Amino acid sequence: MRIKLVLGFWLLGITLAWWAVAPSGAGLAPAAGAVGGGAAWWAARQQMIYLSGLWSVGLMVLAMLLALRLPWMDRALGGMDKVYRLHKWTGIAAALTAVLHWGAKESGGILKALWGRGSKPARDAVLPWLTDARDFAKDLGEWAFYLLLAMIALTLLSRLLNYKHWRLLHRAMPVLFLALVFHSVALMPLAYWSQPLGQLMGALMAVGSGAALWSLAGRVGRARTHAARIQSIELLGEERTLAPIEVVCALPSSWPGHRAGQFAFVRFDQAEGAHPFTIASAPDALGSSLQGEPLVRLVIKPLGDYTRTLHQRLRVGQPVDIEGPYGRFDGQGSAHRTQVWVAAGVGVTPFLALLEARQKESAASAPAHMHYCTRDAASDPLLPRLRTLCAQAQPAVPLTVHSAAQGQLLRPQDLQGLAGPLDIWYCGPQGLGDTLHAHASTQRSWRLHRESFAMR
Ligand SMILES: Cc1cc2nc3c(=O)[nH]c(=O)nc-3n(C[C@H](O)[C@H](O)[C@H](O)COP(=O)(O)OP(=O)(O)OC[C@H]3O[C@@H](n4cnc5c(N)ncnc54)[C@H](O)[C@@H]3O)c2cc1C
Repeated sequence: MRIKLVLGFWLLGITLAWWAVAPSGAGLAPAAGAVGGGAAWWAARQQMIYLSGLWSVGLMVLAMLLALRLPWMDRALGGMDKVYRLHKWTGIAAALTAVLHWGAKESGGILKALWGRGSKPARDAVLPWLTDARDFAKDLGEWAFYLLLAMIALTLLSRLLNYKHWRLLHRAMPVLFLALVFHSVALMPLAYWSQPLGQLMGALMAVGSGAALWSLAGRVGRARTHAARIQSIELLGEERTLAPIEVVCALPSSWPGHRAGQFAFVRFDQAEGAHPFTIASAPDALGSSLQGEPLVRLVIKPLGDYTRTLHQRLRVGQPVDIEGPYGRFDGQGSAHRTQVWVAAGVGVTPFLALLEARQKESAASAPAHMHYCTRDAASDPLLPRLRTLCAQAQPAVPLTVHSAAQGQLLRPQDLQGLAGPLDIWYCGPQGLGDTLHAHASTQRSWRLHRESFAMR
């Protein structure tokens, strides 16, 4: 909902600014013959080229800003995973409006075939010092457009490219953005620059270019990155390649502290990007190291190419960069609703922290019910700890375990027996989250809060 609202407002702002300078009625009700010789269609095409171009570059600016991972965005959008989702949908919307821009430009061929070029409007003047760069700006825009489409296709068709390579390619996006800014500045009509539209777009493109350069310089999140150290490592299970590992990290005094349910970007290896992992311990729950450094716990499941190799790579004492904390998955909904926590697989990590935070009596904690979906309850290494934390929580948290090996899959209807309107907190795989979401949208008294574990 917030994604639609933000995108809606952003596009509305740009559209209103364009509306204020668009020639009155030009191209808005094209009627061949009314103006004669298809002139209205040519005018409509020209305005559509401008408007769709403004939309596209405006959306790219928004995507660039969202990529900065600023803490106030985390607050405004209800979590950094939501900021990422908005960033992704903004990128997709930018590509769709770019298709519209390209389509409007290509429609010139059809208009020429129908009415000839006679009634085509004259080219608008552009910034004088860029007049000679017009052709270059057009070619650059066209190539950047093709690359943008390819990037969006690789993002959506995740099987085509693994995350690691996709991420490397994605780092080129600021360069593509700067190319599109040049295209826009060189081809935007001169008359726009003296109007609020030109000032708005000029400011947006300047801010977006700053964000792109910041990103290219590798500065994103650096101010929130803390040089930590691995304090201990434990394999939680017998099978080295399948068992999760528990890593306790000692943080420097610059660490601002975290709230239960938050996550951080963790870089164990300079050659590897930072990976997001939930801080699976409550604030102060692990105390501090002998050197007085606060300790936090990560529980990492070997789910992909890199995490499968972690048990071999990590060493006690190894330096590790931790950026954060981020996120607003706090399991505290409205006091008038029943709180239901649903975890699946490694999605249990934020709940481990939330439960650990409830081990001491606290008047602020509303009662909660927990559902945990696991492949096999008999061999799940995290289940004994979860049972203890639920039993000892204040107040105790009733736990229902759904073990797939025993055919006990969770169905959204299973939650229907709980009294009152529900606040459902879900963390786990996309598929079950989507099923819960589909069911929640048919239940007026359900509110679903999701922590997304995917950032592509
Ligand atoms: C907010 C959040 C909290 C998470 N908490 C935990 C946790 O507590 N324990 C746990 O085991 N896992 C957690 N994950 C998932 C974990 O980040 C991925 O399993 C891990 O990064 C996979 O890396 P890989 O290279 O081994 O896998 P790959 O096979 O390369 O990637 C699998 C998927 O992991 C995600 N991913 C991979 N690398 C990155 C990256 N650098 N940045 C962002 N996403 C990436 C992508 O969605 C990708 O499609 C969390 C994810 C998010 C978004």
